Amino acid sequence: MKAAVSVDDLVREGLVDAAEAPALLPVEAEFRIRVSGAMRGAISAPDDGVGRQFIPSLQELDVKPEEMGDPIGDDAHSPVKGLTHRYPDRVILHVTKTCEVYCRFCFRRETVGDDGHLTEAEVIAALDYVAVNPAIREVILTGGDPLVLSARRIRGLVERIAAIPGVETLRIHTRVPVVAPERVTDELVSGLGSRLTTVLVLHANHAAEFTESARVALRRLDGAGIMLLSQSVLLRGVNDSVETLEHLFREMLRCRVKPYYLHHCDLAKGVSHFRTTIGEGVALMKALRGRLAGVLLPTYVIDIPGGFGKVPVNADYVTPADAPGAWRITDWQGGVHDYRDPNR
Ligand code: SF4
Repeated sequence: MKAAVSVDDLVREGLVDAAEAPALLPVEAEFRIRVSGAMRGAISAPDDGVGRQFIPSLQELDVKPEEMGDPIGDDAHSPVKGLTHRYPDRVILHVTKTCEVYCRFCFRRETVGDDGHLTEAEVIAALDYVAVNPAIREVILTGGDPLVLSARRIRGLVERIAAIPGVETLRIHTRVPVVAPERVTDELVSGLGSRLTTVLVLHANHAAEFTESARVALRRLDGAGIMLLSQSVLLRGVNDSVETLEHLFREMLRCRVKPYYLHHCDLAKGVSHFRTTIGEGVALMKALRGRLAGVLLPTYVIDIPGGFGKVPVNADYVTPADAPGAWRITDWQGGVHDYRDPNR
């Protein structure tokens, strides 16, 4: 099935009402649209747990004052184009801005979709930076979605990263095994192998994303000895119930993916309708603890707005401030930051 990439496509496929389409054109102009064939097949109704993740809505035009173009502060820690160095021992390499789907809540929604991959010269400059900084032990490929690159290109990239003596781990953050499982070919999987420990962090938010093809793709990755972890985003109207999260985490483990992080929804522009309060997230995690074994429980985390890193949402890092919905968050270096729940 061909990917839907415009409001018109979504109207033709019955996912958007023709009468509502004109009002959605400003959303299309502001934020890219793409629904892969696999995800189109997983949507039963536009407002189900998969549909809400990919079908644009007018609520996206409601940009709150606290929302930001770069909510997790990638740019503030970028010594070389395409590379983020926030923590001493690891770097993020943004190899492409393209994705197989464009998620309506994406924290990089201001930058994804430009159809731009890093050029050869930019990759060389980024890897030169890694090579001369021996404290870096891990390279994290992200984007966009790094697994939209060709299998040949990925193999070449992995070989070059593995050739840097100090690097021990390759991490890949991707949605591809669920949203475009057909890309997980034997050729791709063999190209991911090297002397490095390879960790694939799968981004998935709802059990319905795990189609039969996705299960096959994940079995193939697991069979190649790749460690499989997950990250999900807590999303109002998508997965903000105990039952939905339980179903998601059990489905992940069935596919040999360890539920790893549940992210509080970032302060990206036009996504407040997806954002829960911190109290709601904490209550969900407490309820899950009584129902799920530890191996099924991810850590609930928040990326501190502005690029101060990620911390677990627990009393060591996140404490109530002096007003309802106000919080103090302590970063890994001891800095303290104010945070407010969304106003409704
Ligand atoms: S696949 Fe990832 S980077 Fe791409 S739009 Fe979705 S959340 Fe953003």
